[in-house]
Amino acid sequence: MVIGHYDCGVQNVDPKSMIEKMLLRGVTHEDLERIEHSDVNIDEWLKGFEDPADSVRETLEIIKTHPLIPGDVDCSGYLMDPVTGRIDVLEE
Ligand SMILES: [Zn+2]
Repeated sequence: MVIGHYDCGVQNVDPKSMIEKMLLRGVTHEDLERIEHSDVNIDEWLKGFEDPADSVRETLEIIKTHPLIPGDVDCSGYLMDPVTGRIDVLEE
């Protein structure tokens, strides 16, 4: 089960300001370079999402196509409203 939620703090995260905050908290430029040299695109990794439903669907796609997750594993996706507790079914 992948359960996202509306009004998520990760929505519209800006990689640039996130990296600035990391640097202020003691992460070094060398640390960032080391990560980039291990084939991680930090901007891509830190970018948020516009629509939480898209994010849940993307996560489901990763799970369904991951080579280490057996194909017969059941996957389902939902979105929760953090105020009312309502659950919307995206994929079952
Ligand atoms: Zn969230």
